[in-house]
Amino acid sequence: MTVAIVLMGAPGAGKGTQARLLETAFGFPQISTGDILREIARQDTPLGKKVQEIQAAGLYVSDEVLAEIITERLARPDCEKGFVLDGFPRTLPQAEFLENLLEKRGATLYVLEVQVARDILIKRLTGRFTCATCGEIYNDYFRSPKTDGTCDQCGGHEFRRRDDDKAEVVERRQTVYEDQTAPLLKHFDDRRYLRSLDGTQDVSAILERIKVELGLV
Ligand SMILES: [Zn+2]
Repeated sequence: MTVAIVLMGAPGAGKGTQARLLETAFGFPQISTGDILREIARQDTPLGKKVQEIQAAGLYVSDEVLAEIITERLARPDCEKGFVLDGFPRTLPQAEFLENLLEKRGATLYVLEVQVARDILIKRLTGRFTCATCGEIYNDYFRSPKTDGTCDQCGGHEFRRRDDDKAEVVERRQTVYEDQTAPLLKHFDDRRYLRSLDGTQDVSAILERIKVELGLV
């Protein structure tokens, strides 16, 4: 039996961390369509050229091309036990395509939404800063250096903040996420695929909860 997991969650909800945990705990590869498209665009193949042209024109890759890519990727041997999809599906036609594909393969679909309240997500992102020397991650609200202005790890005094962590950018990305995924979440909920996880728990508690939801305990 193949376990197909679709991970959903707003920017900052900790989807990437959960995907890595699932990979470590069960050996499920993390399949990010963004990564695959970047890889394909570098290849000198007909599909590579097609993806390059679409991206150069600033357009989104069509559902048909994504379907082709996903079908090929999920047929590889490392996906036999299970896999975690990140960034796909994003639209209802993509969701329907995926459900059909999984049905043909006899795979069981679980859609896991990592939920974190909007005000906490905004603090996670806008409060984030890193040590310029060693890359250690801090947060104004949740994790300040023990000595103000000095990195706990390396003793460095220089810190960096990302431009896309500014409050208005973060707010806009949250709204875009909510608007885009609302129909998709409703669809998965109607079809009984959706499981919600409390993304404010520590990562090991979230993983335990995922194991229970998936019947993998
Ligand atoms: Zn440091």
